[in-house]
Amino acid sequence: MASFKTIELPSGKTYEQPLGLFINNEYVDSSSSETLTAYNPATGEEICKIQQACPKKDVDIAVAAARKAFPIWHNIPAVEKRDLFFKLADLVQENKQILAEIESLNSGKPIEQNAKYDIDELIGVLKYYGGWIDKLNGKSFIPSDKKICYTYHQPLGVVGCIIPFNYPLAMMSWKWTSIACGNTAVFKSADQTPLSTLYFAQLVKEAGFPPGVFNVVSGFGSTVGDALVKHLGVDKIAFTGSTVVGQMIQRNAAVNLKPVTLECGGKSPIVIFDDCDFDQAVKWTACGIFNNMGQICSGTSRCYVQDTIYEKFLVELAKHVKENYPIGDPNDANVVVGPQISLKQKERVGKYIKSAIDEGCRIILGGEGLPEEIVSSKKLSKGYYVKPTIIADITPETTVSKEEIFGPVISVGKFSDYDQCLELCNGLDYGLGSAIFTQDITRAINFSKNVEAGMCWINSSNDVDFNVPFGGVKMSGHGRELGEYGLSNFTNVKAVYINLGQKL
Ligand code: NAD
Ligand code: MN
Repeated sequence: MASFKTIELPSGKTYEQPLGLFINNEYVDSSSSETLTAYNPATGEEICKIQQACPKKDVDIAVAAARKAFPIWHNIPAVEKRDLFFKLADLVQENKQILAEIESLNSGKPIEQNAKYDIDELIGVLKYYGGWIDKLNGKSFIPSDKKICYTYHQPLGVVGCIIPFNYPLAMMSWKWTSIACGNTAVFKSADQTPLSTLYFAQLVKEAGFPPGVFNVVSGFGSTVGDALVKHLGVDKIAFTGSTVVGQMIQRNAAVNLKPVTLECGGKSPIVIFDDCDFDQAVKWTACGIFNNMGQICSGTSRCYVQDTIYEKFLVELAKHVKENYPIGDPNDANVVVGPQISLKQKERVGKYIKSAIDEGCRIILGGEGLPEEIVSSKKLSKGYYVKPTIIADITPETTVSKEEIFGPVISVGKFSDYDQCLELCNGLDYGLGSAIFTQDITRAINFSKNVEAGMCWINSSNDVDFNVPFGGVKMSGHGRELGEYGLSNFTNVKAVYINLGQKL
């Protein structure tokens, strides 16, 4: 049995939304009567109720399905596995419009300026890792003519993949690396954004993946996510989400010492020296925080500007954001900034803006309250909107200079020289991204060496490439996704020694 609901999209199109779980290539109803409510963040209206997996029974069933599929999937010839990835990428391409509309409906991402890029990312990542499948090699060592040693890179088994709300399909795609390496997987989508992953699941079956390779359970982290993390039949957890939850996951995964990779939160600095290409610095600074409504883990949300150009930079940044980041209906092709994911997040971001005002910062753009164009709209006035906001004059003590806001808010402060700037950058426990604007190549390279972060952008921000590893240090997590490095999260290395005649 499986339940579906006919949903009308803002474009007027309708589609059948699966409401249950996806196990063994079939949609099935959950054994639990608990549900999640999926909202449209642009209007605050309920879209539908999605069934939560029963944390014991259904998670067990999904893990068992993945376990059964593991030897089957693992033993399919590499080129056939590769072709299935390419077929799936093609199906996503054919379904790009509907997937983008569903993603937008449930997450508030503007369709043209945002959601479609996420679908392109899903396609790109499937092709990128599909291309690796027939190139996964070990190494060989020949220390003498009496001995050969070599390594196998073997899949781990069943991987539990836990996904955040900010890029539901795109972050899911990064964890398809597990499947490329020969593992099978149980995915748990974020409780705010279950719709698109469930819809996507049917394409996996259509592409021809064997049953049980890719399974989806929906539900809250504290119940369904927790059950996956503690499950003795799960061999690995790949998690993207907040640092607090990451800490919990690392502790809980100790039950069977399953390895974890953690892509957690950040408060990534961007520093602007007075010798920079000023116009480019303004544009990239805006782009590094105001895209995706500021819900970017590696968003460069802390900006330090050299004191010689501080006021000028604030004026030009505000002007640029005002002109280029229009807020409004995600279905409007010109809109860049949609709503935050939830009422809770909207309120949380509002509290941070208020704290900055209370702590003596200047609001250069945006601030508290709904934007005028939203208040006056009948349709959107209950949406979870926050104005793109620029806060100036932060000090190391200011709350908004230390904590991840995860909204369209940039906190700006000033510095006078390189040493002070580096100390400010490295002063937090987070270490995900970092960016520097300067024309001085020595300074830029020294910064990239000394900044405590997993990534450093020289004269850009948040320029992500599938070939290049993504991840953090310190409390932003450990392990890398994307690139060749991303593969190492999902295999064990086995060493084989062959004796060609060494005698004892
Ligand atoms: P979150 O930590 O609240 O939730 C992430 C996922 O973990 C969700 O699926 C949630 O249901 C699940 N979860 C919650 N509690 C759990 C538990 N006890 N056990 C198992 N699973 C549990 O994060 P979010 O609010 O969805 O996303 C925002 C956060 O994600 C931000 O901090 C952001 O920086 C981070 N993020 C990081 C990256 C990265 O690559 N480093 C990328 C995107 C988002
Ligand atoms: Mn959360």
